[in-house]
Amino acid sequence: MRNKVLQKIFPAFGTINTITLYDNADLDIVQQIKKRALEQHQRFSVFESGSDISRINEQAGRKPVSVHQDTFFVLSHALAYGRQTQGAFDITSGASSRLWREAIYSGKLPSEADIAECCGLKGLNDLILDKADGTVFLPRKGQQIDLGGIAKGYAADEAVQILKKYKIPNAVINFGGTVVVLGKAKRIGIQNPFQKSGERMGDIEIKNKAVVTSGSYERGFTLKGRRYHHIIDPRTGWPAESGLLSVTLIGDSAMELDGLATGVCVLGEQKGLPLLKRRGIEAVFINDAGEVKITPGLQGNMLQKRRVCGAEFRKTKFFFLKK
Ligand code: ADP
Ligand code: MG
Repeated sequence: MRNKVLQKIFPAFGTINTITLYDNADLDIVQQIKKRALEQHQRFSVFESGSDISRINEQAGRKPVSVHQDTFFVLSHALAYGRQTQGAFDITSGASSRLWREAIYSGKLPSEADIAECCGLKGLNDLILDKADGTVFLPRKGQQIDLGGIAKGYAADEAVQILKKYKIPNAVINFGGTVVVLGKAKRIGIQNPFQKSGERMGDIEIKNKAVVTSGSYERGFTLKGRRYHHIIDPRTGWPAESGLLSVTLIGDSAMELDGLATGVCVLGEQKGLPLLKRRGIEAVFINDAGEVKITPGLQGNMLQKRRVCGAEFRKTKFFFLKK
């Protein structure tokens, strides 16, 4: 059956995911993409007891675990992003991610001792990937991997592979805000971090590119005027305090953008920009002073520059960064 537009919405990766095919839409292809995404969820989730990642975490300090080649692929790339960001993106900081996930859920601060203990369990250099055996090992008991910062990106890239295989000319994959536009240009909204979900700060027009946003405004809680959120600085074990509220990246690989967007939220603008430049990635930064900074390559793609008008931020400056 070939329709004009076909859309499928489904839960996975702890979020809502949408597949939209505009031309040559075929229900079988949409089903294949969904099936593939659910398989990836089953492999990567820390909430699924039999997942590759859960098994690695359970066996930390005990023995290496055989994993699917997809898991191996994502882990190797995640380690590389960890090195490129000097440890700001660190999948081995899973114990800290989990501690703060529970804190956000309960609205209570973890103890300083727990924060320090979890922080001490990270270790990019600890993670042992044995390619010949296809096994993964965390040497210390209690060490935890968390792919929450990269799994959706990988799954989105995989979805695009399926679309390309079937020569689908025009489609959008949106896995919880990790977006890939194939074919005709589309406008993708960027959330205004000072306002409620759905309020856009502006739109960006892209085609045949991925767009990924990581934002500290997304999940968290405020206590005594201070905000605690789900993007953790692995170096301190506390939520990141780089001054960036949101980082939107535009490039080719959704997996790379996903990892680096989370990492740059931690690294901040000054250290993040040269890294993105080297890798040919364009960016929109929104900081806690209400400034929206846009890399020069996006001039002409940024539409509807709306005002960021939270109570304290009546005036917002939009500006393009110098080349
Ligand atoms: P989302 O789109 O769900 O907000 P992000 O890509 O911004 O996801 O990643 C946030 C998730 O990544 C957290 O929920 C946690 O699981 C994990 N995480 C948090 N901080 C880091 C970090 N510094 N490095 C790697 N993963 C992280
Ligand atoms: Mg990410």
